[in-house]
Amino acid sequence: MLHIYNTLSRTKEAFKPVHAGEVRMYVCGMTVYDYCHLGHARMLVSFDVVQRWLRASGYAVDYVRNITDIDDKIIRRAVETGRRMHEVTDYFIDAMHADEGALGVARPDQEPRATQYVGEMLDIIGRLEQKGLAYQADDGDVNYSVRGFPGYGKLSGKTLDDLRAGERVAVDSSKRDPLDFVLWKAAKPEEPPETKWESPYGFGRPGWHIECSAMSKSLLGLPLDIHGGGPDLKFPHHENEIAQTEGAFGGTLANIWMHCGPLMVDADKMSKSLGNFRTIRQTIAQGEAPDSQAEYTVNPREAEMLRFFIVRNHYRSPQNYTPDNLVDAQNALDRLYQALQNVAPDGAGIDWDETQAQAFKAAMDDDFNSSGAVAALFELAGQANRQRDGRAAGQLKALGALLGLLQQDPVAYFQSPTRYSSAAMQQGGAGEQLDAAAIEALIAERAQAKQARDFARADAIRAELRAAGIELDDKPGGVTQWRRA
Ligand SMILES: [Zn+2]
Repeated sequence: MLHIYNTLSRTKEAFKPVHAGEVRMYVCGMTVYDYCHLGHARMLVSFDVVQRWLRASGYAVDYVRNITDIDDKIIRRAVETGRRMHEVTDYFIDAMHADEGALGVARPDQEPRATQYVGEMLDIIGRLEQKGLAYQADDGDVNYSVRGFPGYGKLSGKTLDDLRAGERVAVDSSKRDPLDFVLWKAAKPEEPPETKWESPYGFGRPGWHIECSAMSKSLLGLPLDIHGGGPDLKFPHHENEIAQTEGAFGGTLANIWMHCGPLMVDADKMSKSLGNFRTIRQTIAQGEAPDSQAEYTVNPREAEMLRFFIVRNHYRSPQNYTPDNLVDAQNALDRLYQALQNVAPDGAGIDWDETQAQAFKAAMDDDFNSSGAVAALFELAGQANRQRDGRAAGQLKALGALLGLLQQDPVAYFQSPTRYSSAAMQQGGAGEQLDAAAIEALIAERAQAKQARDFARADAIRAELRAAGIELDDKPGGVTQWRRA
């Protein structure tokens, strides 16, 4: 039976969906004004693993992940670059899709954009106003009155007084309480026309929090089985979503709240101001990622390494990004692929009665413990290697698929250059490495030398390739396979 850690109750709970056999899951997605960074990668991959395991467990899943396509940062970016807002958001939505495709993240079932739900947002704001939970302030903004909602703080586990003391809340004289948050922002004359909607409160645009209350209810209905998001969203975003939805409609917004842990860089928070910001495409593009194109050429070995780096960690634990940790992930993933190259997997599908499959399932049913599931994969790899066991290799590949791993052809995988192998690190990165054509030419020259019985030359070529991080494997029939160490 699946157990999930619920941020709201602070315990692992046996999962019981509202409708038997169905899971309605809403995850807060990206604000599309820039390229996705490694923290986004963690959120995208973590909830991809969740939805994959729910489906593998037999649930019909309706997974909604929204796109925030109206926001201060988007407007600023549009004004700065002389583009219309939708040009900025369309571009970065394409870029996000390229990134998630590279990481093997399946598209959510529904991917609504905030600008498509402004009417639904105004409906909720109207209900809140009728219930005395929203008011229009002197500056024209419509704010939520947190004092009117008794449950405020239940997700973050804090009282209003704690939150006022502990959070840096801007002093804003037009708000009745410093924790009141904006539902509707009054239009400003200098803002572009496409950022303004007509409303009972005058022209304006929605605040950020209200969009998720509108889209989750419209697309999935209440209560949701699972509401998820990144670690920074617990407060205020998710606290505010609860206040809006439950304030307007009564009942419960979501039965289970899931939050993935933070991605740190050298044990610091990743942020633009610290200069340690790293995008997905900088990390896994073949060569340099172009800064003017949403699409790019992906290095498949590095891309799977990044996914593996995330998956082998428990989704709730903090995760530390360092170059060494990526090398460690690449080496470990290489070991799994090595087993698949050594022993051809049999294709019989998963035998759930087998010991490691049971260990895998037990781990995943224990709050999506993909770290434990990956440990089972290593057991299978060891078994495949030791016993030349095609069934173990088959289990390895089939269980790997449930985590979105191990589906590349091992020969092609090992021929992709990687910046994150120990060998590449010693040689200054993939840019310095021999390309495939040069390697094939040397292998052909070595075969000729061997035929001419010039074994000194043949050995010298093997040594030269080894020094460049290329290992040769002479197969029966005179074929030589090569791989990058
Ligand atoms: Zn949200």
